[in-house]
Amino acid sequence: MGTGTSQGIPVIGSTHPVCLSDNPKDKRLRVSVLIEWDNYAYVIDCGPDFRQQMLTANCNKIDGILFTHEHADHTAGLDDIRPFNFRQGDMPIYAHKRVVKALQQRFAYVFETKNKYPGAPGVDIREIENTPFKLGDTTVVPINLMHGNLQVFGFRVNDFAYLTDMKTIAEAEMEKLKHLKVLVINALREESHHSHLNLEEALAFIDKVKPEKAYLTHISHLLGFHDEVEQKLPKHVFLAYDNLQITL
Ligand SMILES: [Zn+2]
Ligand SMILES: [Zn+2]
Repeated sequence: MGTGTSQGIPVIGSTHPVCLSDNPKDKRLRVSVLIEWDNYAYVIDCGPDFRQQMLTANCNKIDGILFTHEHADHTAGLDDIRPFNFRQGDMPIYAHKRVVKALQQRFAYVFETKNKYPGAPGVDIREIENTPFKLGDTTVVPINLMHGNLQVFGFRVNDFAYLTDMKTIAEAEMEKLKHLKVLVINALREESHHSHLNLEEALAFIDKVKPEKAYLTHISHLLGFHDEVEQKLPKHVFLAYDNLQITL
């Protein structure tokens, strides 16, 4: 639903050619993905564009939100779960306990127990650790990643893995990424960055993991025009774009 880095593309006020591009694929909301199977629907991350993304996806029910980490571009849309609350009740939230703590600080009114404002969002916290857990009948495997000095979760569901805001990964975690049909991995720009893979590092990582197909996400306008960058990529590697649908 979103494939842009923290500021999104276009960046507010920017005159960079990519920010001025007319190609819809050069417009990127903050990263998020909607995963659906049978009657289940889960969202990974709930950034500032969550409302717009839910409207675009025409989504009227979600069974829960999985958080990769607490950065604002992944969490700032939490208030907009209210339409789901009114229909479904409290929203199940799956997150590391450190991320839950951050949400409690930033959205104190959501977690209020005394005199909570009627109509404020409601969440049902499910703390997760680096061990597999069930969503309905399906097992989700968390993958520990490092985003600079910050621990972040990636998630594997069957043959699909979604890793964002990664810079490094421990060798032992690589075991969880074998035999993937689709890998989604962050690639910020060409220049290196302290907490994100750049394009070269992302391609080297894909080479190591060897998924059937890989899609790049969390993209900065500095990476360049969608169509030009994609031409330079290996045959099985693609730039993701907003509202891309992948069927497994
Ligand atoms: Zn991010
Ligand atoms: Zn981040």
